Amino acid sequence: MKDCRQFCLIQNEKNIKNRKRKRLPETVMKLSEIHKKKKNVLSFEIFPPKKDEELKNIDKTLEILCELNPDFISVTFGAGGSTNNNKTIAIAKKIKETYHVEPVVHLTCLSYDRAEIDRFSKELAFEGICNVLALRGDRNPNVPEKSDFAHASDLISYLKQTSDFCVAGACYPECHPESAGRVEEMRHLKTKTDAGAEVLLSQLFFDNNYFYRFVEDCRIAGIDVPVTPGIMPVINASQIKRMVTLCGASLPQRFEKIIHKYENSREALFDAGMSYALSQIIDLLANDVDGIHLYTMNNPAVARKICEGIKHIV
Ligand code: FAD
Repeated sequence: MKDCRQFCLIQNEKNIKNRKRKRLPETVMKLSEIHKKKKNVLSFEIFPPKKDEELKNIDKTLEILCELNPDFISVTFGAGGSTNNNKTIAIAKKIKETYHVEPVVHLTCLSYDRAEIDRFSKELAFEGICNVLALRGDRNPNVPEKSDFAHASDLISYLKQTSDFCVAGACYPECHPESAGRVEEMRHLKTKTDAGAEVLLSQLFFDNNYFYRFVEDCRIAGIDVPVTPGIMPVINASQIKRMVTLCGASLPQRFEKIIHKYENSREALFDAGMSYALSQIIDLLANDVDGIHLYTMNNPAVARKICEGIKHIV
């Protein structure tokens, strides 16, 4: 079967050639500049809905998320190693053009070659998108890996050589699941920032002490870019089990107890999960972190409740 991604990329490239370059809206702002201007940068992460019919709801979601006035919204790309990525750019474009919020496009590299990355870059630049979260991507046994980019740092240095994007990278306060250890992991993270990552967005965690220790390690290693903690409010028990298996975040005993106590009531777990996330966020802000990156799970009620809980703080 003809590679569908290849087809989409070629079509996009043809479209780009046939269209005039758009004037960049005045709101274009690089992540590095946002961080220079503001201390508590607030951002949301969303993912493109899997089914086309769910795509219709994304407008309602975006409308509410954007009303909450985040500094940027990031849109995932092929999360879990999937290759269905055409909605990422379309949603990022909508965030920018309809809601005038700065989008950040996630871009993975493990299953792409340079020519494919060049096409994504061209499309993003054409749409006036200037912020990219450059990732290696999750390994997926069903998706063949290509050899041009083995690590996120390879993609970061390639993007810095070939484009004008502000590039962010991912980081892991409790180490990446494939990590060979904290020291090795920090060495690789330094390679990422040396390659040009200007901001780091963290994996979710439930114990702030891991994050504080991690930031200290970063500073000792000479990593001086903003490091933003990623927070995911837990609102259902199966979600937490999946996330913990996927990303290896540890569950503090007191949080485990809360989940266990309320897992059979949707409403009670929502209240408990939101309160836990809020207490994490307030503690992080009180410790002068560079910002908060909220994994919204496309649930505007989650984002709204968090923003309501910190409205006099940020
Ligand atoms: P890398 O930085 O390449 O690190 C991966 C592993 O390789 C680490 O253990 C690292 O220590 C090691 N390593 C790095 N460099 C070297 C080297 N030179 N030599 C040897 N080992 C090395 N996935 C998606 O598919 N789509 C998304 O949209 C997405 N968004 C994400 C957003 C955030 C904020 C985060 C934290 C993760 C996201 N992920 C996403 C998941 C991410 O793709 C996976 O965690 C992936 O397994 C690693 O990506 P990375 O960019 O951190 O890789």
